[in-house]
Amino acid sequence: MEQTLVIVKPDAVANGLLGEVIRRFEAEDLTVCGLKMVWLSQKEAEGFYQVHQHQPFFQSLTHFMISGPCVAMVLEGEEAIRRVRTLMGATDPLKAAEGTLRRSFATSIEKNVVHGSDSAASATFEIPYFFSRLEILPKVGRGEIS
Ligand code: GDP
Repeated sequence: MEQTLVIVKPDAVANGLLGEVIRRFEAEDLTVCGLKMVWLSQKEAEGFYQVHQHQPFFQSLTHFMISGPCVAMVLEGEEAIRRVRTLMGATDPLKAAEGTLRRSFATSIEKNVVHGSDSAASATFEIPYFFSRLEILPKVGRGEIS
């Protein structure tokens, strides 16, 4: 089992897509084991995206990420990191495969609905950026609650 950090970005939350994004992950047997709504500060957005600090789009990206609330989640499942990235689609919605979240809903290369950790190393940095250990809960299987 693997865990990954997903952010439903401010564009998707504002456009009423939160439920649909979560539905698509759950439909692929990815389990939500941590979830919170947050409105990032400029410093928090810059810290999260520090690997991109020298990119020309860094300022625009962080400005977008603080434009409204987003929802952070820890998703768990077999090969969760790779499978979440597949369900998201390519960064640029014009290059994203048919049926992916970004192809379906992204409005630009920047306002692209969803973030997912791109490697185990990224997940190790990103999950504790949003969640304490106490906020990541064990999976309860179907049929285990009656
Ligand atoms: P991801 O792993 O697919 O999210 O893509 P990256 O890690 O390369 O970039 C992080 C985020 O920065 C993307 O999801 C976009 O929101 C934004 N971004 C990436 N490339 C560009 C770009 O060329 N222009 C702008 N404005 N934003 C970008």
